[in-house]
Amino acid sequence: MQRTLYWVNKDLRINDNLALTLASQSEQLICVAIIDSAWFQVNQQQALAMGELRLRFLLEGLQALSSNLQKLGQHLHIIYGDSVTSLNAICEQYAITDLIITKRPGSYERDITAKLQQLQPTTNLHLVEQFTLFTEQALPFALADLPASYSKFRKVVSALASNIEQTTVFALPPQFDQELADCHHCWGETVIEQQITKQINKDHKRSGYHFTGGEQAGFEQLQQYFSCSAPARYKEVRNKLDGWDNSSKLSAWLNYGFISVRQVMGSINEFEQLHGESASTRSLYHELLWREYFQWLHYKIQDKLYQFKGLANTSPLTSFYPERFKKWCNANTPFPLVNACINELRKTGYLSNRGRQIVASCLVNELSIDWRYGAAWFEQHLIDYDAAINWGNWQYIAGVGVDPRGGRHFNLVKQTQQHDPNGEYQDIWLENAEQHTTLDSVSADDWPVQ
Ligand SMILES: Cc1cc2nc3c(=O)[nH]c(=O)nc-3n(C[C@H](O)[C@H](O)[C@H](O)COP(=O)(O)OP(=O)(O)OC[C@H]3O[C@@H](n4cnc5c(N)ncnc54)[C@H](O)[C@@H]3O)c2cc1C
Repeated sequence: MQRTLYWVNKDLRINDNLALTLASQSEQLICVAIIDSAWFQVNQQQALAMGELRLRFLLEGLQALSSNLQKLGQHLHIIYGDSVTSLNAICEQYAITDLIITKRPGSYERDITAKLQQLQPTTNLHLVEQFTLFTEQALPFALADLPASYSKFRKVVSALASNIEQTTVFALPPQFDQELADCHHCWGETVIEQQITKQINKDHKRSGYHFTGGEQAGFEQLQQYFSCSAPARYKEVRNKLDGWDNSSKLSAWLNYGFISVRQVMGSINEFEQLHGESASTRSLYHELLWREYFQWLHYKIQDKLYQFKGLANTSPLTSFYPERFKKWCNANTPFPLVNACINELRKTGYLSNRGRQIVASCLVNELSIDWRYGAAWFEQHLIDYDAAINWGNWQYIAGVGVDPRGGRHFNLVKQTQQHDPNGEYQDIWLENAEQHTTLDSVSADDWPVQ
């Protein structure tokens, strides 16, 4: 008998989910999501892999998926613990024959998959390709020959027809009769509710955008954005610091797989069929291709994505300055626009693309701090965090990534004049009256030399 374990991970949806479609063909099935205890341990860059706002977004989405799976006769087991230990224990307990996982480029997933394969050598591993628009086989080059710049990549893949055919599952196989043992630390409905409420209470004064986790919420945003005229003016407004409709706001749902990249592509195509193709709709498509490029780059360069010297293999002239870093994290730098952006990100888990570029450039160029500290801090705070996109963009700005021009330095005075000339954005987000005017409380000349 085929006994399948489906590890639900960044594919948290019923519709257009090729992994779930595959799972639906097995004889018996268990669906499991893991809240990994490692996410809550402080890492080398003094940050957590999972912040409060993203945890809440994820739990809301897991709750929604759980109730949708119940309608199909299944159950979502949400387990808190070490991923490998928990998944391995389930494989043992249920004599799992098949393990289904959506394939993703991160080292976290790769390491877990490799360890599980070692521990369960007879289990058939199915890695389903659906996190990217194209499959590896469809790419017109071998991964090792991925173009060195985004523009070359875009030129090559733009000619490819993206497969936007979508699937839906109407029924799922039965669960295993045995209960999942307590030792797996299952989080039931009550624990999830408590966790979500805890985050809401902490957060009661929150203003700005609100993102609710789940397939339905993601689908509603997809429909809302493409049913108004916003995609037709995307190119002119995407660099604005504020405004819900100035970009699609789909990233968080996309990165957790509440919606698929094929669904977004399908919506762009439909919009173009109805209203015509324009520079704006193409520009939105090109941003999706940036997402695509960073995923394939991550597959190719693997752990180099997280290294100081990056892809370029050169050391930036930066270091770690604890006082400066603290001021940046606490929105207390001498640069009001940077402080406003940091405040928005801390409070909402979201920041516009231009805001992200501004604060990243400030950390690297004005504060001379090792870019990895900023990337790790983003990892903790962004609701839409994605390893490939986040670390790829940070490398790009730090000048050690795929930017053929060798890094980006955003002039903060010019950026303020251009994007917030009347200070309206700063008025919303600058709540701290006490702004530091200097970077360092002790001048380098004053350090005692023994
Ligand atoms: C330093 C830095 C860190 C970033 N970290 C992340 C991250 O962790 N997760 C993330 O999804 N995006 C990240 N981005 C990219 C970008 O800022 C966000 O994707 C975008 O702001 C999300 O808003 P949106 O969905 O409204 O995007 P839209 O402008 O509507 O774009 C549509 C989609 O295209 C993709 N996209 C847009 N801009 C980029 C880009 N610069 N690089 C790659 N893909 C892009 C996203 O999937 C996005 O949802 C980062 C950018 C910078 C400069």
